[in-house]
Amino acid sequence: MYLKITPKKLIQWLDGLKAQAEVLTPAKVDGVWTYTLSDLQTLPQHYFNSCIPPKSLFFPSLQALLGWRSSDSSLQLSSTPPPDGQRAILGLRPCDARALRILEPVFLKDYQDVFYSQNLLRTLLLGQACRAQCQGSFCEEMGIDPQDSVDVDLFFREVPGGYLARVITEKGKDLARGGDFFEESSAGEWNAARREIGGKRDNPIFDLEKVKARVGERFPDEDFWRRVSDKCINCGICTYLCPTCHCFDLCDLQMPGQGVRFRCFDSCAFPGFTKMAVHNPREEKWRRYRQRVSHKFNFFYQNFQAVACVGCGRCVIHCPVNLDLREVLLAIAQ
Ligand code: SF4
Ligand code: SF4
Repeated sequence: MYLKITPKKLIQWLDGLKAQAEVLTPAKVDGVWTYTLSDLQTLPQHYFNSCIPPKSLFFPSLQALLGWRSSDSSLQLSSTPPPDGQRAILGLRPCDARALRILEPVFLKDYQDVFYSQNLLRTLLLGQACRAQCQGSFCEEMGIDPQDSVDVDLFFREVPGGYLARVITEKGKDLARGGDFFEESSAGEWNAARREIGGKRDNPIFDLEKVKARVGERFPDEDFWRRVSDKCINCGICTYLCPTCHCFDLCDLQMPGQGVRFRCFDSCAFPGFTKMAVHNPREEKWRRYRQRVSHKFNFFYQNFQAVACVGCGRCVIHCPVNLDLREVLLAIAQ
């Protein structure tokens, strides 16, 4: 189902949305692009991918799970209530929307994580087509269309005189149905509004099918992994900013008479990542970097039939030593 809306009606529609839900949009906060509460009057303009991915709105870097208080005679436990209240994310890029879908089986398949599932249920995903290729990105090599998405509730494309919207879910249909803000459009109009995004490359950097086929063969090649990971300084930025990385640690903070159990991001870049009482199977950097790439392009695919990378390019542009995943994938595919 395809719809269209004028800029004036879009403002009215967003005002109505804000009355029912918190609206979050990409914005610069203290110099860093992130998703934050917004009083924006229209769809966000002229932005690339945020530095902090929307993953953090579903799986925060720090999440208290339960607390306790003790006295000589009693112990009281309190669990953190699941998040509530409707919210909408506006201006979600196709790569980040796909990343949220990729994370779903991790948090919802065998074990239902109440925080992730509640966050998903209470959030309306409003996607928006990209105008230009983000620096460092390779979304199209990963099979993601920067001009379209089926991973959201409603997806917008700018056109002269307003916006077209593609309705993806029942939630999206309900959202567009109220009032007389939207008019009917058609698949023909939608397809005609597709445009070449700025900065698009003529040729793909690598062939994903070859990467998937060869990454397993590369696994025993110690020299290869030593070479490609040589300059990594184990900072963990690539994992913290990755919209699909999801490793976490469970820790207890103990204070006199009270404490809290919390979940926080962990990273395969850190030397202590898999350290156990008597052994660390990945003490050397090359083993951990191999784990990062093999997990995303091989193990995750075997478990969930999806590659755990959307080509957003965050790890490429924010790595302090310019370790470029695109070059590693190209080397794997050759
Ligand atoms: S961002 Fe770069 S230096 Fe930091 S852990 Fe990742 S690959 Fe290593
Ligand atoms: S591995 Fe890099 S390019 Fe792929 S999704 Fe994560 S941050 Fe983006």
